[in-house]
Amino acid sequence: MRVLVIEDERKLAAAIARGLVEEGFAVDAAYNGVNGLWKATSEPYDAILLDIMLPGLSGYEVLKRLRAADVWTPVLMLTAKDGEYDEADALDLGADDYLSKPFSYVVLVAHLRALLRRGAPARPAVLAAGDLTLDPARRLCHRAGEEITLTAREFALLEFLLRHADEVVSKSDILTHVWDEHYDGDTNIVEVYVGYLRRKIDTPYGRRTIETLRGAGYRLLGTGADAAGAGAAGADAGD
Ligand code: CA
Repeated sequence: MRVLVIEDERKLAAAIARGLVEEGFAVDAAYNGVNGLWKATSEPYDAILLDIMLPGLSGYEVLKRLRAADVWTPVLMLTAKDGEYDEADALDLGADDYLSKPFSYVVLVAHLRALLRRGAPARPAVLAAGDLTLDPARRLCHRAGEEITLTAREFALLEFLLRHADEVVSKSDILTHVWDEHYDGDTNIVEVYVGYLRRKIDTPYGRRTIETLRGAGYRLLGTGADAAGAGAAGADAGD
């Protein structure tokens, strides 16, 4: 098993490498983000240990670019509690696991072994309904092969609807999952955003994939979405 350690504190990088070598791993090290990204994209690693606060490119940015380059090597992020980023950010960004510094060596190896056992990940599924696709890891949305630009909120709303395709979701379900718990404004905000989404993913393509079920909520048509397009005979394109 070959592991890449991207860590700018050389002493720490050396200590990690020494320990992992003793455990039978092959270890390479990089001491800044640019070099780390280059190694991670050009060599086949089984896992990457990635520090967040790095010169050149932050670990954050390295991870984003790795995933954008379609490299799905499992990443164990090393986070500092007092740092600019935290665990939640690391996981949001597509890290497979994280460890807070300072960590014990035993814990590091345990996490690493667990990660390797899980094997090559964890490429998050691309969500799809007919020819509409949403790639949460790469933050991309396409309809009929065309890229659609969504705001963060529109993206989150569409992701929620796609994860519940063909189910009826109420406005309050949507509010709970797409807006944070502190939002206490008008629930009509959901309607407004569904309208924005329709104008981006449906209207220009002659589709009606987001149904309004009066008094109940919304339903995004999943597998039958293409058939429900404007050109179809439309038994279920109503509402
Ligand atoms: Ca650092």
